[in-house]
Amino acid sequence: VPSDLSITVLGCDGTYPAPDGACSGYLVRSGTTTIWLDAGSGTLAELQRHVRLADVDAVVISHRHPDHWLDLALARNVVRYIQPRPPLPLLAPTSLLDDAATMFDLDEGSFEPDDVADGDHRRVGDIDLRFSRTDHPPVTLAVHCQSAGATLAYSADTGGEWSMAAFGVPVDLAIWEATYPDGGNHVRRRHHATPTETGTNARDAGVGRLVLTHLLPGTDHGVAGRAAADAFGADVDVARPGARFAASPPPPPNQETP
Ligand SMILES: [Zn+2]
Ligand SMILES: [Zn+2]
Repeated sequence: VPSDLSITVLGCDGTYPAPDGACSGYLVRSGTTTIWLDAGSGTLAELQRHVRLADVDAVVISHRHPDHWLDLALARNVVRYIQPRPPLPLLAPTSLLDDAATMFDLDEGSFEPDDVADGDHRRVGDIDLRFSRTDHPPVTLAVHCQSAGATLAYSADTGGEWSMAAFGVPVDLAIWEATYPDGGNHVRRRHHATPTETGTNARDAGVGRLVLTHLLPGTDHGVAGRAAADAFGADVDVARPGARFAASPPPPPNQETP
């Protein structure tokens, strides 16, 4: 049975949103299942281009940094007051659930909290999830998704000390952060990666296809993509809102240009 596993970019700006941009958020979809993966600011608006919240089977939040989850508090408004639905499963580290509980009552029934940790497995619909703690200071969980033999993974935020090899299973399609440009002189370079680091780690982990994400606003995507491709040894895409990447089968060459 062929898999329809894919990831659609709702927002991909690193750390803060660019003009007309949004922070981190994605839709992971198979034939029957929809997962909202990270809920950074601007992603609830984008999500409504694709699905209703009533059709989302679970929300997964990678970590407690605000660029990855602030729209969760607004999604709560929708499901509590405007479009009631059964409690929406919310898979996230304990630290994120604690933060969310300071903004609204987690026990009110809008969400069904499920605290996940490094090495955990979950199943949502027909998608198997596994989680791996990355090189990023608050507990941050990268997410691996498998459905009908196809696989994709999302790095969340990480420095170069973590790799998707940590999942211990193949990754057909990698959505992997590259926050800082190569050769830059940023105040806090640690705990985020550059295109060259990510391309190198993706090559060493044997991922099938690489998409860069979480680039700082103002980053030259062409330069970043080429640096990652040089290290990866194959073409690399750069995420942009609205782009959909299929885990399988791979698209024909030259379908996307950076
Ligand atoms: Zn971030
Ligand atoms: Zn972060």
